[in-house]
Amino acid sequence: MNESGKRRLSLSWGAATDQGRIRSTNQDAMYTDSGLFAVADGMGGHQGGEVAANIAVRTLSSAKHDSLENFESAFVEANRVVHQTALTEPNLHGMGTTLTAIAVLGASDSRHLAIANVGDSRIYRFNGAEFEQLTLDHSYVAELVRREEITEADAATHPYRNMLTRAIGVHSEVQVDSWRLTPKEGDRFILCSDGLTNELSDIDLMKHLLQNPLASNAARALVRAANMHGGRDNTTVIVINVNIENIQTKEFGEDTRVNEEQSNSLISENKRTRLISKLFLRLKRTTGFDPSDVKNLEES
Ligand code: MN
Repeated sequence: MNESGKRRLSLSWGAATDQGRIRSTNQDAMYTDSGLFAVADGMGGHQGGEVAANIAVRTLSSAKHDSLENFESAFVEANRVVHQTALTEPNLHGMGTTLTAIAVLGASDSRHLAIANVGDSRIYRFNGAEFEQLTLDHSYVAELVRREEITEADAATHPYRNMLTRAIGVHSEVQVDSWRLTPKEGDRFILCSDGLTNELSDIDLMKHLLQNPLASNAARALVRAANMHGGRDNTTVIVINVNIENIQTKEFGEDTRVNEEQSNSLISENKRTRLISKLFLRLKRTTGFDPSDVKNLEES
């Protein structure tokens, strides 16, 4: 193979999460690792939201996501495990979570990303000029806006603005939106929970991206801005910067796989991991159900 000009997708990313200024716990969860980026925003009392969000993210992260079909199946599996757990433990009945994620597809499809979404956490793409929300919100007010029964402004203050029409774990089956996407040089993605978008406008989001070329700085700046605006909910943000590198096929052979570099890190990751492990231990003690039996639980 002598042709030059093969392209390699290179991603750098940063993430931040914070419980905000009102809530006493953080029921958001996230995952950023080689080729998978996910945000989950849990709901349900008695720590149900926290359990649902963390089980969903862990189930997704330990499933295959090398093809669009496998990625969608991983969402269905996350739904099954959260739903099963909710049935097992009375305190967790009715728990659920949003789940929105980007995956880098496998070697045969290595120039593409996959997106999948259930709920009202969002993915945006900004290329320096255009800013667009890629995901559809599965919420009652978003349905009303799409049917032109209310305006975006009405939706922001609507009494049912938190009501989801789809969520992971609430029912035994779930409908997943998923599709393939071709990333371009300079694309920047934001994955976020509604704690960000209920506080900040699209213009605010763009402004913070433009002021913070580094993904990790952008993620932190966005969470900080949401808190300064009121911080009424947990806020979780992952920012991904896309670089398309031209490489010599000769040097790299057939290898056009993705090269990920973590630019920076999570707020109080160790503390959160410990809390989650404690939560799972308690769940195991009270129900005999151990999420780590179902999926590989990371060591704390
Ligand atoms: Mn939320």
